[in-house]
Amino acid sequence: MASDPDCIFCKIVAGDIPATKVYEDAHAVAFADTNPQAPTHVLVVPREHYTDVADLARDPDAAAGLLAGIRGFAAQEGLTDFRTVFNTGAGVGQSVFHTHAHLLAGRPMGWPPG
Ligand code: 5GP
Ligand code: ZN
Repeated sequence: MASDPDCIFCKIVAGDIPATKVYEDAHAVAFADTNPQAPTHVLVVPREHYTDVADLARDPDAAAGLLAGIRGFAAQEGLTDFRTVFNTGAGVGQSVFHTHAHLLAGRPMGWPPG
């Protein structure tokens, strides 16, 4: 669906609830995570509602648009080293079911993640 009236990230995209938006283009919006896990921690989301990255991947244009948004934010900030994470499913911690890339940067990060 294009938008879910009950979705908090759809409301942020629409400007109906506040967020610290740091990047916007035709397909994607990035805003600061309210519980940051790194000096830079933003959520990059498609403007339209997809529940998770697997749902997004059914629409290749939308998927490409979100990746372009990740690139666009990184270029804007001059970031060359950053991590992107898509949680898919409550079992691995997805809590908002509008797909989002966590983009984290600005501190050392081990691998594999905890
Ligand atoms: P998930 O656990 O679904 O992968 O990530 C959801 C993220 O959204 C969490 O890191 C959480 O801190 C963030 N978050 C939840 N509600 C809000 C909100 O209303 N505004 C913003 N900016 N971030 C939120
Ligand atoms: Zn949504």
